[in-house]
Amino acid sequence: MIKLLRHLASFVLLLAFIRVASAQKIDRVEPPSWFTGMKDPSVQLMVYGREIGSYDVSTSYPGVTITTLVKTDNQNYLFINLEIGIQALPGNIVLNFVRGKQKLIYNYPLLPHPDGPVRGFNTSDVIYLLMPDRFSNGDPSNDNVEGMLEKADRSNPGGRHGGDLKGISDHLDYIKDLSVTGIWFNPFLENNQQASSYHGYSITDFYRVDPRYGTNEDFKTLVSKAHGMNLKLMMDMIFNHIGSGHWWMKDLPSKDWVHQFSTFTRTNYRASTYMDPYAAKADVDLMEKGWFDVTMPDLNQSNPLVENYLIQNSLWWIASFGIDGIRMDTYPYPDKNMMSRWAKRVTREFPEFFIVGEVWYQQEALTAYWALNKVNTDGYRSNLPSVTDFPLSLAAGSAFNEPDSWTDGLARFYLILSQDFLYPDPFRNVIFLDNHDLTRFFTRTGRRLDIYKMALSFILTTRGIPQFYYGTEIAMEGDKSMGDGYLRQDFPGGWTGDSKNAFTGANLSSTEKEAYVFTRKLLNWRKDKEVIHTGKLKQFIPENNLYVYFRYNDRESVMVILNNSENETRTITRERYFEGLNGFARGTDVMTGREINDLGSFTISPKTAMIIELK
Ligand code: CA
Repeated sequence: MIKLLRHLASFVLLLAFIRVASAQKIDRVEPPSWFTGMKDPSVQLMVYGREIGSYDVSTSYPGVTITTLVKTDNQNYLFINLEIGIQALPGNIVLNFVRGKQKLIYNYPLLPHPDGPVRGFNTSDVIYLLMPDRFSNGDPSNDNVEGMLEKADRSNPGGRHGGDLKGISDHLDYIKDLSVTGIWFNPFLENNQQASSYHGYSITDFYRVDPRYGTNEDFKTLVSKAHGMNLKLMMDMIFNHIGSGHWWMKDLPSKDWVHQFSTFTRTNYRASTYMDPYAAKADVDLMEKGWFDVTMPDLNQSNPLVENYLIQNSLWWIASFGIDGIRMDTYPYPDKNMMSRWAKRVTREFPEFFIVGEVWYQQEALTAYWALNKVNTDGYRSNLPSVTDFPLSLAAGSAFNEPDSWTDGLARFYLILSQDFLYPDPFRNVIFLDNHDLTRFFTRTGRRLDIYKMALSFILTTRGIPQFYYGTEIAMEGDKSMGDGYLRQDFPGGWTGDSKNAFTGANLSSTEKEAYVFTRKLLNWRKDKEVIHTGKLKQFIPENNLYVYFRYNDRESVMVILNNSENETRTITRERYFEGLNGFARGTDVMTGREINDLGSFTISPKTAMIIELK
C-alpha cells in the first residue's frame, strides 16, 4: 500500500512537472519599454509566447487604455494597441493576460519622456563615419561571446576583428581633436550570423547592442560621454531587411512578415523603377520584394504591423539614448510610402532630429526625387531630411584624374552643382569622398597627396554636410575590387600591439602625417566658419583646369580655387572673378597663411587648391 502511495505521489509530481513545463509564458514584448508624453500617444506592443494569441488582455493602469488587440495567422504572437494618455505617469503597466482559467501577468515599463534636447545634424557639422568592429578593440574579453555564432578572426578581412564601443569611447578625444563634430557608426545591433557579421547590416535583434560590441548600457554611457564633449551621434538603421539569423525567422509573426518566394529571389537593385514613369510592374515588384542577399530576408513594410514595429524601434532608440541622427540604409528599397510615413512620424516627434537616407544613384534627378519637400510629378513626398549625394562623390573620384573638357575634369563639379535646382534645399545633402562601400579616396587618387588635398579642400567648402570616413585623415587605402573587407581595415593603433598608432602618431609614414596635419587643420578651420556652414555659393564656369567658387554672406567671403592642371601655374584676375572679388582688397590663404596683397592678379600652382579668406 505504501509502495502504491509512493508511486501515486511520483505520478502526481510528474503531472505537476508537465503542467509547469507547458505553462504559458511571455518570451518577448517589444518595444521593451515606452514613454510618457509622446506627441503620438499610441504604441503597439508585439507580444511573443506560445499560444499568446489566444489570450485576452486588460489593464487598469491610470491613463492607459488598450484600444484593440491584433492577431495574425500565428497564434504565438499578439499585438496590443495601447493609448498612453497625457495623464499617465511613469511606472509599470500591469498587463493581465487571461485565457479561461489561465492567467499571466506582465509588467510593462512606462518610462519618463526624455528631457534632453534632440539636436540633429546640419551644415555646421562634419560627420566621422566609423565601423565599430574596425576602429578600436577596447575590450578583448568580448571578442568572442558564448551564444554568438561567429568568432573573432583578425586574419580574415571579412571576419570579426574585435572592435567595440569601449574602443570608440576610449578614443573620443582623438575624434574630437580631429575637429569633426559627430560620429556615424555603421550598425552595431546584434548580428548573430554565421559569417560576415562584422559589418552589422544583418540585424538579428532590433533592441540589442551586439554583445561583442558591449551592452545597451555601454551605448548609453558612450552617448552621454560624447554629448559631454559636444560630439553628436548617428545610428545606422536598416528597415529593408534582417539577418537570416533573426529570431523571427524561426517562427514568423505572420506568413507575410517577409517577402517569400518558392526559390531564392534577389532584388534587381534598380531603384530607378520607383520614379520611372514607364516602369514595368514586375520590375518594381522585384525591386521592392526581392531579397538583398541570401542571408538578408526582405521585410514586408506594407504590412502595417511591420510598419509599426520598425517606426517604434527607431523612436525607442532616439528616446532611450538621445541619439542625434539616423542614417537609413538602402532607403529606396522598402515600401516607399511606409518610409515616408516613418520619416514624418520621427520628425514630428523630434522636430530637430536628423535623418539621412542612403539613396545610391549616379544621377542627380533620381537622388533629388527623395529630397525633403521635393514636389514630384507622381505626388510622392519622402519627408526625408537629407539624402546622400552619390553623384558628387562619383564626380570627385574622377574629376582630378582626367583631362579638362566640356563635361570632364572639374567641369563635373560645375555641372552637378548647376543641377541643384532639382533640390528644394541642396545644402541638406550629405556629401563625401568615400564611405564603407566605396574604394577609399586616397587609393582613387593613385596615392597622390596633391589630389587628396584638393579634394578635401573642395568637399569641406562646397555646399552640403560633409561626411568623412575613418582613416581618411591618415590617407588609408582600400580597393573595392579586392573585397569590401579591404575598405574597412583596422584603424592603426586600435589594437594592442599595433606597431603603427594613428592615435599617438607613432610610426606613421611621412605621407600619413602630412595627410593628418592638413586634414585636421582644414577641419578645425571649417568648424567655426559660419560662411562655409550657411553662406551662399557662387561658382564660375571652369576654364583651363581652373575652377573657382565663392562662399559668402553679408559679412564675409571665402574664395576657393582649384587648379587641376598637371604642370601649369595659373593666373587669377580680378576682371574674371569681379562678382566675387568686388569690395575686397586682400586675402589670406587659409592653409598656407600666404598673404595675397593684390587680388587684381595672383597665381596658383599646379594641382593645388587655395582657400582664401577675403578682406
Ligand atoms: Ca572587443
